[in-house]
Amino acid sequence: MRSARAANHGKGPARERALRRARLLLLLSLLLAACDSSPPSAPEVPPFDPLLSETALLDHLNFLAADSLFGRGVGSEHERRAAEYVRDRFQEHGLQPGDTTYLQTVPLPFPVNGQTGATSQNVLGVLPGEGRLAGQWLILGAHYDHLGFLRASADSVVVYNGADDNASGTALMLEVASYLSDQLAGVRAVDGRRSIMFQAYGAEEAGLIGSDYFCEHPTVPMDSVVAMLNLDMVGRLRDNVLILVGTSSSDEWTGLVAAANGTSSLWFALDERLLGRSDQACFYHSQRPVLFLHTGLHNEYHTPYDDVWLINTDGMLRVGNLVIALLQDLAVRSERLSFGDVALEFAEQR
Ligand SMILES: [Zn+2]
Repeated sequence: MRSARAANHGKGPARERALRRARLLLLLSLLLAACDSSPPSAPEVPPFDPLLSETALLDHLNFLAADSLFGRGVGSEHERRAAEYVRDRFQEHGLQPGDTTYLQTVPLPFPVNGQTGATSQNVLGVLPGEGRLAGQWLILGAHYDHLGFLRASADSVVVYNGADDNASGTALMLEVASYLSDQLAGVRAVDGRRSIMFQAYGAEEAGLIGSDYFCEHPTVPMDSVVAMLNLDMVGRLRDNVLILVGTSSSDEWTGLVAAANGTSSLWFALDERLLGRSDQACFYHSQRPVLFLHTGLHNEYHTPYDDVWLINTDGMLRVGNLVIALLQDLAVRSERLSFGDVALEFAEQR
Protein backbone atom coordinates (compact mmCIF):
# COMPACT_ATOMS: atom_id res chain seq x y z
CA MET A 1 0.00 0.00 0.00
CA ARG A 2 1.31 3.44 -0.90
CA SER A 3 1.46 6.04 1.83
CA ALA A 4 -0.59 9.20 1.44
CA ARG A 5 1.39 12.01 -0.24
CA ALA A 6 2.05 15.14 1.83
CA ALA A 7 0.12 18.22 0.73
CA ASN A 8 2.18 20.75 -1.28
CA HIS A 9 1.97 23.95 0.82
CA GLY A 10 3.87 27.17 0.05
CA LYS A 11 5.50 28.43 -3.15
CA GLY A 12 8.13 31.02 -4.15
CA PRO A 13 11.59 32.06 -2.83
CA ALA A 14 10.89 31.23 0.84
CA ARG A 15 10.04 27.66 -0.13
CA GLU A 16 13.17 27.47 -2.35
CA ARG A 17 15.37 28.58 0.60
CA ALA A 18 13.72 26.03 2.87
CA LEU A 19 14.31 23.28 0.29
CA ARG A 20 18.01 24.26 -0.10
CA ARG A 21 18.43 24.18 3.70
CA ALA A 22 16.78 20.76 3.88
CA ARG A 23 19.07 19.40 1.11
CA LEU A 24 22.13 20.74 2.93
CA LEU A 25 21.05 19.12 6.19
CA LEU A 26 20.44 15.81 4.42
CA LEU A 27 23.93 15.96 2.83
CA LEU A 28 25.51 16.73 6.21
CA SER A 29 23.72 13.85 7.92
CA LEU A 30 24.76 11.45 5.13
CA LEU A 31 28.39 12.57 5.48
CA LEU A 32 28.24 12.09 9.25
CA ALA A 33 26.73 8.62 8.82
CA ALA A 34 29.51 7.71 6.36
CA CYS A 35 32.17 8.85 8.88
CA ASP A 36 30.73 6.67 11.66
CA SER A 37 33.12 3.69 11.65
CA SER A 38 31.03 1.46 13.97
CA PRO A 39 27.42 1.20 12.75
CA PRO A 40 25.21 -0.97 14.98
CA SER A 41 25.13 -4.49 13.57
CA ALA A 42 22.49 -7.17 14.10
CA PRO A 43 23.63 -10.27 16.02
CA GLU A 44 24.83 -12.97 13.66
CA VAL A 45 22.26 -15.69 12.94
CA PRO A 46 23.76 -19.12 13.72
CA PRO A 47 24.12 -21.57 10.81
CA PHE A 48 22.06 -24.78 10.65
CA ASP A 49 21.59 -27.88 8.47
CA PRO A 50 18.01 -28.12 7.19
CA LEU A 51 16.28 -31.49 7.39
CA LEU A 52 13.55 -30.57 4.88
CA SER A 53 13.59 -29.60 1.21
CA GLU A 54 13.15 -25.94 0.30
CA THR A 55 11.96 -26.97 -3.18
CA ALA A 56 9.18 -29.12 -1.73
CA LEU A 57 8.05 -26.29 0.57
CA LEU A 58 7.93 -23.89 -2.38
CA ASP A 59 5.94 -26.40 -4.46
CA HIS A 60 3.24 -26.49 -1.76
CA LEU A 61 3.30 -22.71 -1.29
CA ASN A 62 3.06 -22.06 -5.02
CA PHE A 63 0.09 -24.39 -5.36
CA LEU A 64 -1.87 -23.26 -2.30
CA ALA A 65 -1.23 -19.50 -2.68
CA ALA A 66 -1.71 -19.39 -6.48
CA ASP A 67 -4.36 -17.07 -7.94
CA SER A 68 -6.02 -20.21 -9.35
CA LEU A 69 -7.00 -21.21 -5.79
CA PHE A 70 -8.75 -17.83 -5.36
CA GLY A 71 -7.72 -17.44 -1.73
CA ARG A 72 -9.18 -20.76 -0.48
CA GLY A 73 -12.32 -19.08 0.88
CA VAL A 74 -14.29 -20.90 3.58
CA GLY A 75 -16.85 -23.32 2.11
CA SER A 76 -15.80 -22.63 -1.51
CA GLU A 77 -14.83 -25.09 -4.23
CA HIS A 78 -11.31 -23.61 -3.98
CA GLU A 79 -11.04 -24.46 -0.29
CA ARG A 80 -12.15 -27.96 -1.27
CA ARG A 81 -9.37 -28.17 -3.91
CA ALA A 82 -6.81 -27.20 -1.26
CA ALA A 83 -8.17 -29.94 1.04
CA GLU A 84 -7.89 -32.50 -1.76
CA TYR A 85 -4.30 -31.40 -2.42
CA VAL A 86 -3.44 -32.03 1.25
CA ARG A 87 -5.24 -35.39 1.18
CA ASP A 88 -3.31 -36.46 -1.93
CA ARG A 89 0.02 -35.58 -0.25
CA PHE A 90 -0.99 -37.56 2.88
CA GLN A 91 -1.71 -40.54 0.65
CA GLU A 92 1.63 -40.17 -1.16
CA HIS A 93 3.45 -40.10 2.18
CA GLY A 94 1.75 -43.35 3.20
CA LEU A 95 -0.28 -41.84 6.03
CA GLN A 96 -3.47 -43.63 7.05
CA PRO A 97 -6.86 -41.87 7.10
CA GLY A 98 -7.61 -40.22 10.47
CA ASP A 99 -11.34 -40.93 10.16
CA THR A 100 -13.24 -43.38 7.97
CA THR A 101 -11.67 -41.33 5.15
CA TYR A 102 -9.03 -38.60 5.16
CA LEU A 103 -11.69 -35.89 4.98
CA GLN A 104 -13.82 -35.01 8.00
CA THR A 105 -16.86 -33.04 6.83
CA VAL A 106 -17.46 -29.85 8.82
CA PRO A 107 -20.95 -28.28 8.57
CA LEU A 108 -20.88 -24.48 8.27
CA PRO A 109 -23.38 -22.46 10.32
CA PHE A 110 -23.86 -19.84 7.57
CA PRO A 111 -24.75 -19.85 3.87
CA VAL A 112 -22.01 -19.77 1.21
CA ASN A 113 -22.86 -18.04 -2.10
CA GLY A 114 -26.45 -17.89 -0.89
CA GLN A 115 -26.62 -21.67 -0.36
CA THR A 116 -27.37 -23.17 3.04
CA GLY A 117 -25.95 -26.57 4.01
CA ALA A 118 -22.42 -25.61 2.92
CA THR A 119 -19.51 -27.56 4.35
CA SER A 120 -15.80 -27.27 4.95
CA GLN A 121 -13.47 -30.16 5.69
CA ASN A 122 -10.65 -31.14 7.99
CA VAL A 123 -7.98 -33.38 6.46
CA LEU A 124 -6.66 -36.01 8.88
CA GLY A 125 -3.65 -38.29 8.27
CA VAL A 126 -2.16 -40.78 10.72
CA LEU A 127 1.35 -42.05 11.28
CA PRO A 128 0.68 -45.03 13.57
CA GLY A 129 2.81 -45.55 16.69
CA GLU A 130 4.02 -48.78 18.22
CA GLY A 131 3.79 -50.85 21.37
CA ARG A 132 2.61 -49.53 24.72
CA LEU A 133 2.58 -45.87 23.58
CA ALA A 134 0.68 -46.38 20.31
CA GLY A 135 -2.66 -45.50 21.93
CA GLN A 136 -1.39 -42.03 22.86
CA TRP A 137 -1.49 -39.24 20.30
CA LEU A 138 0.47 -36.23 19.17
CA ILE A 139 -1.24 -33.77 16.85
CA LEU A 140 0.48 -31.43 14.37
CA GLY A 141 -2.14 -29.03 12.98
CA ALA A 142 -2.32 -26.15 10.49
CA HIS A 143 -5.29 -24.45 8.82
CA TYR A 144 -5.29 -24.36 5.01
CA ASP A 145 -8.22 -21.99 4.29
CA HIS A 146 -7.90 -18.22 3.84
CA LEU A 147 -10.06 -15.18 3.04
CA GLY A 148 -11.03 -15.92 -0.58
CA PHE A 149 -11.34 -13.05 -3.09
CA LEU A 150 -13.18 -9.80 -3.75
CA ARG A 151 -14.83 -8.92 -7.04
CA ALA A 152 -13.13 -5.67 -8.16
CA SER A 153 -15.18 -5.20 -11.33
CA ALA A 154 -17.38 -7.22 -13.68
CA ASP A 155 -14.34 -9.08 -15.06
CA SER A 156 -11.63 -8.84 -12.40
CA VAL A 157 -11.06 -10.04 -8.85
CA VAL A 158 -8.59 -9.31 -6.05
CA VAL A 159 -7.24 -12.56 -4.58
CA TYR A 160 -6.19 -12.88 -0.95
CA ASN A 161 -3.47 -15.46 -1.61
CA GLY A 162 -2.64 -16.12 2.05
CA ALA A 163 0.91 -17.34 1.46
CA ASP A 164 1.96 -16.80 5.06
CA ASP A 165 -1.62 -17.19 6.41
CA ASN A 166 -1.57 -20.13 6.21
CA ALA A 167 -0.14 -21.82 3.15
CA SER A 168 3.14 -21.63 5.11
CA GLY A 169 1.92 -23.73 8.04
CA THR A 170 0.18 -26.21 5.73
CA ALA A 171 3.32 -26.61 3.58
CA LEU A 172 5.51 -27.13 6.63
CA MET A 173 3.09 -29.62 8.19
CA LEU A 174 3.07 -31.63 4.93
CA GLU A 175 6.86 -31.78 4.76
CA VAL A 176 7.23 -32.71 8.45
CA ALA A 177 4.71 -35.52 7.81
CA SER A 178 6.73 -36.70 4.81
CA TYR A 179 10.03 -36.58 6.72
CA LEU A 180 8.73 -38.40 9.81
CA SER A 181 6.93 -41.10 7.86
CA ASP A 182 10.21 -41.82 6.01
CA GLN A 183 12.35 -41.69 9.16
CA LEU A 184 10.10 -43.77 11.37
CA ALA A 185 9.08 -46.40 8.80
CA GLY A 186 10.60 -49.71 9.77
CA VAL A 187 12.39 -48.30 12.87
CA ARG A 188 11.43 -50.32 15.94
CA ALA A 189 10.95 -48.23 19.06
CA VAL A 190 12.03 -50.45 21.96
CA ASP A 191 9.71 -48.84 24.52
CA GLY A 192 6.99 -47.97 22.03
CA ARG A 193 6.20 -44.81 20.11
CA ARG A 194 3.18 -42.50 20.18
CA SER A 195 0.96 -42.16 17.13
CA ILE A 196 0.97 -38.84 15.28
CA MET A 197 -2.07 -37.31 13.59
CA PHE A 198 -1.44 -34.59 11.02
CA GLN A 199 -4.43 -32.28 10.74
CA ALA A 200 -5.24 -29.59 8.15
CA TYR A 201 -8.21 -27.52 9.30
CA GLY A 202 -10.75 -25.75 7.15
CA ALA A 203 -12.81 -22.67 8.07
CA GLU A 204 -10.28 -21.23 10.53
CA GLU A 205 -10.75 -17.72 9.17
CA ALA A 206 -14.51 -17.89 9.88
CA GLY A 207 -13.86 -18.47 13.61
CA LEU A 208 -11.78 -21.64 14.19
CA ILE A 209 -14.72 -23.72 12.92
CA GLY A 210 -12.71 -26.71 11.60
CA SER A 211 -10.59 -27.28 14.71
CA ASP A 212 -13.58 -26.67 17.00
CA TYR A 213 -15.45 -29.36 15.06
CA PHE A 214 -12.60 -31.83 15.53
CA CYS A 215 -12.51 -31.10 19.29
CA GLU A 216 -16.26 -31.70 19.47
CA HIS A 217 -16.06 -34.80 17.23
CA PRO A 218 -12.58 -36.20 17.91
CA THR A 219 -11.66 -39.33 15.97
CA VAL A 220 -9.46 -40.50 18.88
CA PRO A 221 -10.27 -40.04 22.59
CA MET A 222 -9.37 -36.48 23.56
CA ASP A 223 -7.71 -37.62 26.79
CA SER A 224 -5.32 -39.75 24.73
CA VAL A 225 -3.94 -36.58 23.05
CA VAL A 226 -0.62 -35.92 24.78
CA ALA A 227 0.18 -32.66 22.98
CA MET A 228 -1.05 -30.48 20.11
CA LEU A 229 1.39 -28.38 18.04
CA ASN A 230 -0.08 -25.72 15.76
CA LEU A 231 1.61 -24.02 12.80
CA ASP A 232 -0.14 -20.79 11.80
CA MET A 233 1.85 -18.14 9.89
CA VAL A 234 5.37 -19.54 10.04
CA GLY A 235 6.63 -17.99 6.79
CA ARG A 236 7.91 -14.60 7.89
CA LEU A 237 10.68 -15.32 10.41
CA ARG A 238 12.49 -12.05 11.22
CA ASP A 239 15.70 -11.63 13.24
CA ASN A 240 15.66 -15.42 13.77
CA VAL A 241 12.97 -15.02 16.49
CA LEU A 242 10.14 -17.56 16.65
CA ILE A 243 7.09 -16.69 18.76
CA LEU A 244 5.93 -19.51 21.03
CA VAL A 245 2.38 -19.41 22.36
CA GLY A 246 1.15 -21.91 24.94
CA THR A 247 4.31 -22.53 26.94
CA SER A 248 2.23 -22.03 30.10
CA SER A 249 0.05 -25.02 29.15
CA SER A 250 2.74 -27.40 30.39
CA ASP A 251 5.72 -26.96 32.71
CA GLU A 252 7.76 -29.15 30.36
CA TRP A 253 7.49 -27.02 27.20
CA THR A 254 10.41 -24.67 27.71
CA GLY A 255 12.80 -27.52 28.55
CA LEU A 256 11.58 -29.57 25.58
CA VAL A 257 11.97 -26.62 23.19
CA ALA A 258 15.46 -25.82 24.48
CA ALA A 259 16.54 -29.44 23.98
CA ALA A 260 14.97 -29.62 20.50
CA ASN A 261 16.54 -26.35 19.34
CA GLY A 262 19.99 -27.88 18.82
CA THR A 263 19.56 -28.28 15.07
CA SER A 264 17.47 -25.16 14.38
CA SER A 265 19.38 -22.45 16.34
CA LEU A 266 16.31 -20.23 16.72
CA TRP A 267 15.72 -17.51 19.28
CA PHE A 268 12.36 -17.36 21.03
CA ALA A 269 9.78 -14.89 22.26
CA LEU A 270 6.96 -16.15 24.50
CA ASP A 271 3.51 -14.58 24.08
CA GLU A 272 0.41 -16.09 25.68
CA ARG A 273 -1.91 -13.34 24.36
CA LEU A 274 -2.47 -15.32 21.13
CA LEU A 275 -3.55 -18.52 22.90
CA GLY A 276 -7.19 -18.15 21.81
CA ARG A 277 -6.46 -16.84 18.31
CA SER A 278 -5.75 -20.02 16.35
CA ASP A 279 -6.55 -23.72 16.14
CA GLN A 280 -4.84 -24.74 19.38
CA ALA A 281 -7.62 -22.96 21.34
CA CYS A 282 -10.13 -25.83 21.63
CA PHE A 283 -7.39 -28.32 22.52
CA TYR A 284 -6.32 -25.97 25.30
CA HIS A 285 -9.93 -25.76 26.49
CA SER A 286 -9.92 -29.58 26.51
CA GLN A 287 -6.91 -29.34 28.87
CA ARG A 288 -4.35 -30.62 26.37
CA PRO A 289 -0.82 -29.17 26.41
CA VAL A 290 -0.55 -26.96 23.29
CA LEU A 291 2.25 -25.12 21.52
CA PHE A 292 1.49 -22.61 18.78
CA LEU A 293 4.49 -21.68 16.61
CA HIS A 294 4.23 -18.33 14.83
CA THR A 295 6.57 -15.89 13.08
CA GLY A 296 4.48 -12.79 13.80
CA LEU A 297 2.02 -10.37 12.21
CA HIS A 298 3.12 -7.98 9.42
CA ASN A 299 1.86 -5.27 7.09
CA GLU A 300 0.54 -7.81 4.58
CA TYR A 301 -1.50 -9.74 7.19
CA HIS A 302 -5.07 -10.19 5.86
CA THR A 303 -4.36 -8.10 2.76
CA PRO A 304 -4.12 -9.20 -0.92
CA TYR A 305 -0.32 -8.72 -0.64
CA ASP A 306 0.43 -11.80 1.50
CA ASP A 307 2.36 -13.46 -1.36
CA VAL A 308 4.90 -16.25 -1.82
CA TRP A 309 7.77 -13.93 -2.79
CA LEU A 310 7.73 -12.50 0.76
CA ILE A 311 8.12 -15.92 2.38
CA ASN A 312 11.35 -16.61 4.27
CA THR A 313 11.91 -20.25 3.32
CA ASP A 314 15.16 -20.43 5.30
CA GLY A 315 13.13 -19.48 8.38
CA MET A 316 10.52 -22.13 7.58
CA LEU A 317 13.28 -24.74 7.34
CA ARG A 318 14.55 -23.73 10.79
CA VAL A 319 11.06 -24.05 12.25
CA GLY A 320 10.82 -27.43 10.48
CA ASN A 321 13.96 -28.70 12.23
CA LEU A 322 12.51 -27.63 15.58
CA VAL A 323 9.11 -29.27 14.98
CA ILE A 324 10.74 -32.54 13.86
CA ALA A 325 13.00 -32.67 16.92
CA LEU A 326 10.06 -31.88 19.24
CA LEU A 327 7.84 -34.58 17.73
CA GLN A 328 10.64 -37.17 17.77
CA ASP A 329 11.23 -36.45 21.46
CA LEU A 330 7.52 -36.34 22.37
CA ALA A 331 6.89 -39.60 20.48
CA VAL A 332 9.14 -41.70 22.69
CA ARG A 333 9.46 -39.93 26.06
CA SER A 334 8.16 -42.21 28.78
CA GLU A 335 5.98 -39.68 30.64
CA ARG A 336 3.02 -37.69 29.33
CA LEU A 337 3.23 -33.91 29.71
CA SER A 338 1.61 -32.18 32.67
CA PHE A 339 -1.12 -29.63 31.93
CA GLY A 340 -1.13 -26.12 33.37
CA ASP A 341 -3.91 -23.60 32.86
CA VAL A 342 -2.38 -20.40 34.21
CA ALA A 343 -3.14 -18.60 30.93
CA LEU A 344 -6.80 -19.55 30.80
CA GLU A 345 -7.87 -15.91 30.84
CA PHE A 346 -6.01 -15.36 27.56
CA ALA A 347 -7.72 -18.31 25.90
CA GLU A 348 -11.05 -16.74 26.83
CA GLN A 349 -10.21 -13.69 24.71
CA ARG A 350 -11.48 -15.11 21.42
ZN1 LIG B 1 -5.78 -15.31 9.02
